[in-house]
Amino acid sequence: MTSQTPVEWLGAPDTPWVFVHAHPDDESLLTAGTMRRVSEAGRRTVVVFATDGAAGLADSPPGPQLAARREAEALASAAVLGCDRVEFLGYADSGLDGDVPGGFCGVPVAQAAERLAALLIEERAGVVTSYDASGGYGHPDHVQVHQVVAAAARQAATPLLLEATVDRDQLLRVLRLVNAVGLLPTGVAMDRFSTSFVPGADITHRVDVRRYASVKRASMMAHASQAGGGDGLRTLRLLRRLPMPLFRRICGTEWFVQRDV
Ligand SMILES: [Zn+2]
Repeated sequence: MTSQTPVEWLGAPDTPWVFVHAHPDDESLLTAGTMRRVSEAGRRTVVVFATDGAAGLADSPPGPQLAARREAEALASAAVLGCDRVEFLGYADSGLDGDVPGGFCGVPVAQAAERLAALLIEERAGVVTSYDASGGYGHPDHVQVHQVVAAAARQAATPLLLEATVDRDQLLRVLRLVNAVGLLPTGVAMDRFSTSFVPGADITHRVDVRRYASVKRASMMAHASQAGGGDGLRTLRLLRRLPMPLFRRICGTEWFVQRDV
């Protein structure tokens, strides 16, 4: 946190939080520590997954079997994080290039927002989380989450909208560190990250989650399908392998940008 005390950003004891994510495993990377912290503070904690994750890189082929596996992994992760409710909107994973027919990124924003707004109203959500405008690193489903949550929060008049992101300046420092200890896979272009997420100066909330490092790691371990498949930099695979002190240092903060609803 920059200027507010934890009590202020957590909201009143009866403030429900709704965390919206594009795919199963995004929660473990971006908001796992905050979710557990919110849950331990006694706030109702709800996680919503927009897509089934069936087009994700994994150690098994895309399709319904992968979707079922990813749903089970999401439920296991949510249990670790103390979630009271897990909701799957059931849209198709658009794939990194956004070319999966019927994918979430092609769904009209108003249509998806109406469904999410109904959930926010039902939960009397005091806080909803989303993604930054670039979707972090540009995945079309993440960009769509940014737009859909903004519209839903407006419709439901949710008081606080926090966009989960990463402090880009810190990310670049961490990548240099990981590179220095020889853990960065070859062929990873650092300049790919120079325009992702948001600059440190734009961050409004820095949540200290060092106390929840082992919980966050357990959430990542629940997404076993995401530790394999694909080439180059697989964030989950990399993080799961880090020695715990380094993991705590790298994953011990979660970042948000507060947006007007
Ligand atoms: Zn994702």
